[in-house]
Amino acid sequence: MSDKIIIFDTTLRDGEQSPGATMNQREKVRLARQLEILGVDVIEAGFPAASVGDFESVQAIAAAVTGCQVAGLCRSLPADIERAAEAIKGAKLPRIHTFIATSPVHMAHKLRKEPHQVLEMAEAAVKLARKFTDNVEFSAEDASRSEPEFLAKVVELAIKSGATTINIPDTVGYAQPAEFAALISYLLEHVPSAHKAVFSVHCHNDLGLGAANTLAALKAGARQAEVTLSGIGERAGNAALEEVVMALHTRHDYYGLTTGIATEQIFPSCRLLSRIIGMPIPAYKAIVGRNSFAHESGIHQDGMLKNRQTYEIMTPESVGRSGTDIVLGKHSGRNALSAKVKELGFVLTDEQLGQVFEAVKRLADKKQEIFDQDVESLILEQVFRIPDKYALKTLSVLAGNTGMPPTAAVIMDIDGEEKRLSGFGTGPVDAVFNTLSALVGRKPKLLEYAVNAVTGGTDAQGQVTVRLEEDGHMTVGRGTDEDIIVASAKAFLNALNRLAKKREEKREWVTL
Ligand SMILES: [Zn+2]
Repeated sequence: MSDKIIIFDTTLRDGEQSPGATMNQREKVRLARQLEILGVDVIEAGFPAASVGDFESVQAIAAAVTGCQVAGLCRSLPADIERAAEAIKGAKLPRIHTFIATSPVHMAHKLRKEPHQVLEMAEAAVKLARKFTDNVEFSAEDASRSEPEFLAKVVELAIKSGATTINIPDTVGYAQPAEFAALISYLLEHVPSAHKAVFSVHCHNDLGLGAANTLAALKAGARQAEVTLSGIGERAGNAALEEVVMALHTRHDYYGLTTGIATEQIFPSCRLLSRIIGMPIPAYKAIVGRNSFAHESGIHQDGMLKNRQTYEIMTPESVGRSGTDIVLGKHSGRNALSAKVKELGFVLTDEQLGQVFEAVKRLADKKQEIFDQDVESLILEQVFRIPDKYALKTLSVLAGNTGMPPTAAVIMDIDGEEKRLSGFGTGPVDAVFNTLSALVGRKPKLLEYAVNAVTGGTDAQGQVTVRLEEDGHMTVGRGTDEDIIVASAKAFLNALNRLAKKREEKREWVTL
């Protein structure tokens, strides 16, 4: 058995399904390219049957990525499989990933099928998928709550029908490490054709055991791990790529397993994801959180100064956290920016580069040092935004302790038509949000509002994230600006733009 673990990243499928983590097509392609640089073996690009937008995103990723396999997810239904096959056919290394639930509760209440019907559907699905590619993955949804004997039967049939990867998901995050490892051992032993397929696991984090269950399964003989950056995903998320990979690397003595991951790309990848979805990485998050390498207590610092190994099991450099990344200043030219943009992994046209260059110059007038994160934010802000139905032109706010109510005056474009209005609020941000809501004629509920500095320093750009809800649709918007009130307005409009798009697009969801 090989000691190389196949890293299957599902940030763009399972991760993107987590509440508020929706990404547009450009953002997905950019993240896919980063995953390629990171060295993942398979990118699950999406669920093409979900909507036209999902189909097109998978197609765009398939065309953009050449260094790793691109998988499309589909239920065990002919129309789904054909749609997935169509979406990934432009990929250099395509994979079809089909699935069906195998647990008694899912078969009875979700599928409303008898076990023998599920067996027939699984067989037909894998056989149909094999007509399009010889790289077919089959998943038994809710495998950890399935009857092991029945699961073994489904798996054997899937392999016989042509599946080359067998995924055993802990869909609801119910499994315990030793028990899950035993299930993998059981299958490897009792499925006669087990040696003809790679066994994979997909573990959810509902009890905080996603990475632990994944590692236990790898130790037991699974050779593919399905993971996401920072562990984003449905509900409590998935096993985090960085946790699984760094456990394998740091404890090679215990596991004896390797991956093809360029570990120094881990932090830049998680940071990019955080920037795209507008959710900061928690400070205490293992490996990529701000505090994960900070040694603050006196005893630790003393030990660290004498010998780093006293408290450090891996170095910050090994996961790409090198500290200094001052890149550009007021006098940096377009070539310096172009080199930096490439280094950060973006591919821009001349026109887009010009747009970003102007924005960097404007920022450099106000801020002495421009960091990697600034450039990243400006690109996402200037180039990657979805075409705006609502766009801010000018904003002026009066606030302070003058006794006057805070006032906002706004000029904006709605579908290309200029509108203006002023309004009041209990604070400046409230005044801006009230005025914008009145201008667009909608009343979304503000669920969350957060300001973060893009970098350190009081002259840092502010990144504002807002979470809005309207008619059951939830969306996140983000905006970056040196002025946090302007950043707030941009974030609010970005969320309104995404809500407008969501209302237009019907999307189907699956769990796995
Ligand atoms: Zn999942």
